[in-house]
Amino acid sequence: MTIDRAEAVLTDPALSDEVDTVLRRTAHGLRAAAARGSVDFRRNDDDSIEVLATSGVNPLGDQRTDQRTLVAEETDDPWARLGDHATPLAMESVAQYFDSAHAPDLVVLHAPTHRFHGNTGEHGSLSTTQARTPFIAAGPGIVARGIVDEHLRTVDVAPTVTALLGCAPVDGHDSLGRRRSGIRLKVQDGDERAELIDPDQRPDHVVLFLWDGCNPQALHEMAAKGEAPRIADLIERGTSYRHGAIASLPTATLGSHMTESTGVLPGRSGVLHNTWYDREADRVVDLLDFAQMITARDHLRDDIETIHEALHRNEPGATSVATYEYGDRGADWSTYIQMSSGGAQGPLTDEERRRHRDPDFMGIPAYRNYSVYDAHSVADAKYTWSGDLGALPRFSWFTLNLTDSAGHAGGPHSEIGRAAIRDTDARMGEIIDEIDRRGVLDRTAIIMCADHGMQMTAESDAVDLSIPLHDAGVDHLMVDAQYVYLR
Ligand SMILES: [Zn+2]
Repeated sequence: MTIDRAEAVLTDPALSDEVDTVLRRTAHGLRAAAARGSVDFRRNDDDSIEVLATSGVNPLGDQRTDQRTLVAEETDDPWARLGDHATPLAMESVAQYFDSAHAPDLVVLHAPTHRFHGNTGEHGSLSTTQARTPFIAAGPGIVARGIVDEHLRTVDVAPTVTALLGCAPVDGHDSLGRRRSGIRLKVQDGDERAELIDPDQRPDHVVLFLWDGCNPQALHEMAAKGEAPRIADLIERGTSYRHGAIASLPTATLGSHMTESTGVLPGRSGVLHNTWYDREADRVVDLLDFAQMITARDHLRDDIETIHEALHRNEPGATSVATYEYGDRGADWSTYIQMSSGGAQGPLTDEERRRHRDPDFMGIPAYRNYSVYDAHSVADAKYTWSGDLGALPRFSWFTLNLTDSAGHAGGPHSEIGRAAIRDTDARMGEIIDEIDRRGVLDRTAIIMCADHGMQMTAESDAVDLSIPLHDAGVDHLMVDAQYVYLR
């Protein structure tokens, strides 16, 4: 079969510096194959995973969640392949991905020795370093436990936030239509983290900060060294999960933001990834294209709820806001809703532009441009808390993007990556100070999270994997250098 031929081409040992592992469906379930070994598995009706066969080194064989919690463990062994580099919750993650009608026939997980997009830092694979995201919470309603050696999942974020907001438990279902009772969103795949929530202390306000692509090992190290004081303060008075919130495949921005906004997995939310081929419409959706990006919410399934929508169902008069966030459906005010309805952004003053910027990196567009976007996100956040919208927001989601762009530019443990963490810590602090000025900080719960991790890649030329596939007679469409749709 063509799919077998395509897998054989991509897992040829001659391509092992470029291709780590290839994922696909089979007649019996799912398969992850690499040059040195493979695993066949299936998901049963009760969501349990059953391994059907393995050969050689199973690329998904090490599913520890506690590997590589320190920066040194990443920098000492940067190019470990899957199997050596743990892949927490990987088989569940692969299974939900292929639930999507838009899933490709084969997914290439690039080896960290292959710089396929020209980025020094990259994500999108199942490795711990790319799937682990930070998760920290503090304030009223949060049980303060300090740093705990535990993990949660990105799909648990929305259920936990809606529980913290006091949304009433309902009878609903998961995104495959199976009944679930006592859930906070009408459609919910994730679980609320009850150990984190003190039901006797309800916050008046919940504010979530998403630092895109922030590597949690770097974040924890900088907080411990005093270089991220606002994060250190949240850890000090709250709880931080050392093993992180594990992102589901594709461990990339759009899919993960939507999962965190809805509690529904990327393969089933309607937003599989940044980009995919829509077989029915015969077109490639590209949510990194600006016009498509600011309307990404339109791809979400109609029957699922965002946090904003669940809050409004429970409290019709409550105000909820979002800045620079894709999962903003139902928000009363959102940067991207403003932009997509033709609203102009308020100008920044020169001082606002320059604040929290490191002059050493201003020559690098990824740093300079995203510093401006984040300055806008801060200005928008402060506007939503100015009182001009009426009541202060019950729920706020503020996204800051510099940690992702700087991580791509220099890698997660580079000088530019650390500068981005320092700057973002200060920008988050500026917003928290604004909340404090409104006199409600002691009634406000704060959550900090990210959408995916970030791993260093080796300097290398990009190899176009379409060429060996075409040479072997595999007629296909390659999307984003990694998603193979057979024709
Ligand atoms: Zn991202």
